[in-house]
Amino acid sequence: MLILRWFCIDTIMIYRTFPVGSFQCNCSLLACEETKEAILIDPGDEAEEILSVVRELGVKVLYAIHTHAHLDHIGATRKVSEETGCEILLHKEDLFLYENLPMQASLFGLEAEEPTPPHRFVDDEEEIIFGKCRLEVIHTPGHTPGSICFQMEEAGPSLFTGDTLFQNGIGRTDLWGGSFEKIIDSIKGRILQLDDDTAVHPGHGPSTTVGDERRKNPFLI
Ligand SMILES: [Zn+2]
Ligand SMILES: [Zn+2]
Repeated sequence: MLILRWFCIDTIMIYRTFPVGSFQCNCSLLACEETKEAILIDPGDEAEEILSVVRELGVKVLYAIHTHAHLDHIGATRKVSEETGCEILLHKEDLFLYENLPMQASLFGLEAEEPTPPHRFVDDEEEIIFGKCRLEVIHTPGHTPGSICFQMEEAGPSLFTGDTLFQNGIGRTDLWGGSFEKIIDSIKGRILQLDDDTAVHPGHGPSTTVGDERRKNPFLI
C-alpha cells in the first residue's frame, strides 16, 4: 500500500492518507495522539488495508465520515464499521446515493453489499470531536447535493475537500443531483473564503492549497 503522507504535528495528531480501490479514493485516518481516538474519512475500498492501518496505529475509530456518498468513497464503510464499531456519518442530502450503493456499483460492473444505515447525519458548521482534535463540517453542494468538506486546524489549517475541489480541477457535476452552478458557488462562497495557506486534501490526487487553486485552477479564474 502506498502511503502518501504521514506526519505528526506537536504529537497532537496522527495523520495518514492513502489511496484505496480502483478509483484511487484518498482515505484518511486522523487520530489524537494522546487519546488514540480516531476518525476515518472516506473508507472507499480495501477494508482490510484500512483495518491494518487502524491496528498498526492502535487507535480507536469513533467515526467513519464521508465527503459524499459516491461508490468510491463509501465502498468499505460497512466492513470498517462492523470491525471497529465506529459510527457512520454523512450529510442527509446524500442518503439517496448511500442507499443506492449496489446500483452505483452495478453501473461499473461491480458488486456491493447493502450498506449499513448511517448512525447519524452531519450538517453545516457541525463539529466532529475525536480526543483533543476537532473537525468542522462545511456543506459544499454541487458534486452531489450532500457533499461536505472538513476543516481542521490541528495539523495546520487544512481542508478535506472530497470531490468538490481538486488540484487544478473540480468535481464532475453530470451525475445524480450534480450542479455546476452549485459547485462553483460552494467553492467560491465557502472554500475560497479560507486563507491562502490552507492545505487542501482532495478526494483524489495530490494535495494543494487554497491560494494555489485561487490563482491557477482553470475553473475558478
Ligand atoms: Zn464523487
Ligand atoms: Zn471520488
